[in-house]
Amino acid sequence: MTDAAAIAENLAAIRSRIAAACSAAMRDLESVTLVAVSKTHPAEAVAAALAAGHRVFGENRVQEAQAKYPALRAHHPDLRLHLIGPLQTNKVKEAVALFDVIETVDRPRLAEALAKEMARQNRSLDCFIEVNVGAEAQKAGIAPNDAADFIAECRSRWKLRVGGLMCIPPEGQDPVPFFMKLADIAAQNGLKGLSMGMSADFEAAIACGASHVRVGTAIFGARNPV
Ligand SMILES: *Cc1c(COP(=O)(O)O)cnc(C)c1O
Repeated sequence: MTDAAAIAENLAAIRSRIAAACSAAMRDLESVTLVAVSKTHPAEAVAAALAAGHRVFGENRVQEAQAKYPALRAHHPDLRLHLIGPLQTNKVKEAVALFDVIETVDRPRLAEALAKEMARQNRSLDCFIEVNVGAEAQKAGIAPNDAADFIAECRSRWKLRVGGLMCIPPEGQDPVPFFMKLADIAAQNGLKGLSMGMSADFEAAIACGASHVRVGTAIFGARNPV
């Protein structure tokens, strides 16, 4: 069951916390985009957020997004959908057709496949490069030391529209040093977009310069089992 009133209330609460974090950091409210992460939640939950005026959403799996979003988009053509989970090259075709932003570009083969598919579909998606800021063995993302070369290659070789960087800091540690590291890599490479911060730490991310915060649980409640 979806509680539309609760979702609208949660959204309003998150918006005001974002506004407070922006003013504490002396930043414009317009400089931060809230990406509402709807993974595992039904289309009705997204519809409730749309009814409350929200338009930017994130999903981490292509198939799940495909089941929910085309119908929602038919009613809300201004909806913007971000892919925030790992993308396999065999799903690139569907992803390019469905999403507006790919936040998880993390390897040359994927960058190349995205470039080819965007050309084929005549669609130009914004791309964020995922950086493995904690250099964790099991985690996706380009290593911090390889980021500059990879960003340059995405731009010059594959002509991707690189909008910024994205990270998921290691669990159970203070995220701030990792947010600062991502901001530093972005600045060194002339990138403005910084997708960082989730339900538990989006205010800290805004203080560190986040342009996009990805908030799921605090809007839609606990995730449903997949
Ligand atoms: C699920 C997810 C989020 C949202 O996490 P919450 O803690 O529920 O806000 C953000 N980013 C990524 C990459 C995710 O997979």
